[in-house]
Amino acid sequence: MSGVSLREKKLWVFPMTYGGARAVAAVWRALGVDAEVIPPSDADTLALGARHTSGDECLPQKITLGDLLKLARRPDYSPERTAIFFANTTGPCRFGQYIPLFRKAFREEGLGDLQVVAPNSDDGYQSVGREFPDLPRLGWWGVVGADLLQKALHRIRPYECTPGTTDRVYLEGLDALCRAIERRAPSRRRHLAAVVECLGETRERFAQVAVQGAPRPLIGVVGEIFCRLHPFSNQDLIRRLERAGGEAWLSDVSEWIWYCNESEARELTLKGRRLSFAMFGVRLRDWVQRGDEHALASSFGDLLRGREEPESVGALLEYARPYLPPEGALGEMVLSVGKAVHLRAHGAHGVIDISPFTCMNGIVSEAIYPRLSRDLDGLPIKNFYFDGKPAPLDRDLEIFLELARGYRARTERVGQPCPA
Ligand code: SF4
Repeated sequence: MSGVSLREKKLWVFPMTYGGARAVAAVWRALGVDAEVIPPSDADTLALGARHTSGDECLPQKITLGDLLKLARRPDYSPERTAIFFANTTGPCRFGQYIPLFRKAFREEGLGDLQVVAPNSDDGYQSVGREFPDLPRLGWWGVVGADLLQKALHRIRPYECTPGTTDRVYLEGLDALCRAIERRAPSRRRHLAAVVECLGETRERFAQVAVQGAPRPLIGVVGEIFCRLHPFSNQDLIRRLERAGGEAWLSDVSEWIWYCNESEARELTLKGRRLSFAMFGVRLRDWVQRGDEHALASSFGDLLRGREEPESVGALLEYARPYLPPEGALGEMVLSVGKAVHLRAHGAHGVIDISPFTCMNGIVSEAIYPRLSRDLDGLPIKNFYFDGKPAPLDRDLEIFLELARGYRARTERVGQPCPA
């Protein structure tokens, strides 16, 4: 790793979600680091990623690597002056292998050492806060704020009278959120109040979008976190679902952060450290994050009524327990199964699981879904796998929506009216 301080480098943030990456880049800029979002994935991404992958790897690995190699082709690229912000994880999942592969590919391409700033899920992504103490807290505001804007986008856009209006409100709201995060205040309390106020203003603008039409079939979207949230990876499934006549309820980024907190607490308990400073730290962080989330979401309550998340990730894990023991089945598989139960209980008429081809999370969940569907009165649940090649998505989505309409009629569950 080069001895140049992060403050003298350009830090690139990977856009798993565009909004989340924009907000996190704003947080870094607020802390004095020149940060920007990595440009969108495209055909070059796949071609470059394929140079160092054999086809056995997960699609997100190919895409993230391809985007980094694309970045390194920019005329202004300098290995000494560049760093990548990339959340990491350990454990059985192949995600832990991404960063070693990035470094190997960069060496093989003669691109020098790749500096990666890689907070890890094992400690709820807190380690990065040692050098930048405000980063975890502000980063959380960015994640929650971006999640809220995306939820409002998905809630309103399917019903907009004038195409493009909701996207515009969303993008302008995102710009405003980034400005509010970047503009530091004399105290954290006042800074948070400014971010809350800014989100409230955007909520008003969402509420003013002219809408029409009867409630559409409500489709919960779960699955592997990267593929479900990254539109290029899932061939823009959410927009296609909306074009086919559905409304999506997409599992967000915050859910994963709550899960990491819960996993850390469980690990400490297993190690006999239930009563320890470390556990106190986890619980305190959880409490602070919950309070911040509550404040940030306060103005969105009525707009997102009927789209409430579980009161805790523990509730989600208990929903999953009859199918997958949360102590043994780790990661998105248990979240996807538990979330499907929650979604059904909150009026979803179908659930789509988005996963990369060969993803172990998708494979395990797929084995569970037939039983889960039977237990939920035949709720339509379908896996969509992606490997970077174009798939006949539109036809499959239309068929799936027919099943969801049938389910709605059969169970006489009608979704929430559009928020006119
Ligand atoms: S969750 Fe699935 S796609 Fe993601 S790294 Fe793990 S195996 Fe690969």
